[in-house]
Amino acid sequence: MSVNHIRPWRTIERRKSRQIMVGNVPVGGDAPISVQTMTNTDSSDVKATLAQVLAAAEAGADIVRISAPDVAATQALREICKESPVPIVADIHFHYKRAIEAAEAGAACLRINPGNIGDDSRVKEVIKAAKDHGCSIRIGVNAGSLEKHLLDKYGEPCPDAMIESGLDHIKILQDNDFHEFKISVKASDVFMASAAYQMLADATDAPIHLGITEAGGFVSGTIKSAIGMGQLLCMGIGDTLRVSLSADPVEEVKVGFEILKSLGLRHRGVNIISCPSCARQGFDVIKTVETLEKRLEHIKTPMSLSIIGCVVNGPGEALMTDVGFTGGGAGSGMVYLAGKQSHKLSNDQMVDHIVEQVEAKAAQLEAARAAETDRA
Ligand code: SF4
Repeated sequence: MSVNHIRPWRTIERRKSRQIMVGNVPVGGDAPISVQTMTNTDSSDVKATLAQVLAAAEAGADIVRISAPDVAATQALREICKESPVPIVADIHFHYKRAIEAAEAGAACLRINPGNIGDDSRVKEVIKAAKDHGCSIRIGVNAGSLEKHLLDKYGEPCPDAMIESGLDHIKILQDNDFHEFKISVKASDVFMASAAYQMLADATDAPIHLGITEAGGFVSGTIKSAIGMGQLLCMGIGDTLRVSLSADPVEEVKVGFEILKSLGLRHRGVNIISCPSCARQGFDVIKTVETLEKRLEHIKTPMSLSIIGCVVNGPGEALMTDVGFTGGGAGSGMVYLAGKQSHKLSNDQMVDHIVEQVEAKAAQLEAARAAETDRA
């Protein structure tokens, strides 16, 4: 049960959007905000691309996107879609035939802008293929690739131009009686993306795919994405997201989840609360947290762990976590379970013991959840 009734400052009221399906993943409405990533292998290389899809899925990706620039890529999609544990979005630019091939190959969604694929007959063919194969569509407006007539009209990429572009694409789909679509209005500039998404949220009830495009390398891209998407998510805007990083897709998934976890919008795995450490630390906090992050990667059950260097903040943080360890003196510290002081532990046994405690707590939470499901 949510405890937000006693902590109203934590409440995020999500914008009410229509729900669509991307394969078996609901997007929009009251569905959890899904996390996406995109492969960066040669899409015609089934083995390499599938390996990335599987790694991303293992890291928690709900949906994975794959570029389909040529026939070799759409052919490879057939096997990839068959083997993938998560729905695949085929990313198409301009080539309507690739979209049809991708739909036939089993893609769950097409990322395509219907206004950019040519005349009405081509649009109709793509929409027919999407309908025939149960594909949804993502309209992907990008400030860097706006239509020329909009750049002429507005003078430069801007939120108004992006919204006009998005609404034009939406109209084409609606005129063709196609409603299984979501939409993004991405920009690499945080202010532009934020303004565009806020306008979009008012202009349509379609599910919104959030993204700060070309955000940069791991550190700068993570920060830009967290600031840009974070403020929108706090306003309740966003039904699915992709963090774009010049980094491994698995990192994109982890960052996406961390953004959602930090706002209490999704919960997955162990949320480690740790202090930055200082001269008061009773053990090496940084090294310990690094080790624990790796050792606890396999835990998918949502739970919290506090690893705090000393009693200044340790007991207080431990009060709010499932498992906690607070550094003390003489090479030992205190273990906390369910917010209560439990037992003393020497630092050299700490990592193994904490891993055991977390695994035991995860098993207990899973058993409780299974019992609740049985009762329901
Ligand atoms: S909790 Fe203790 S060790 Fe950690 S930063 Fe604060 S004072 Fe330093």
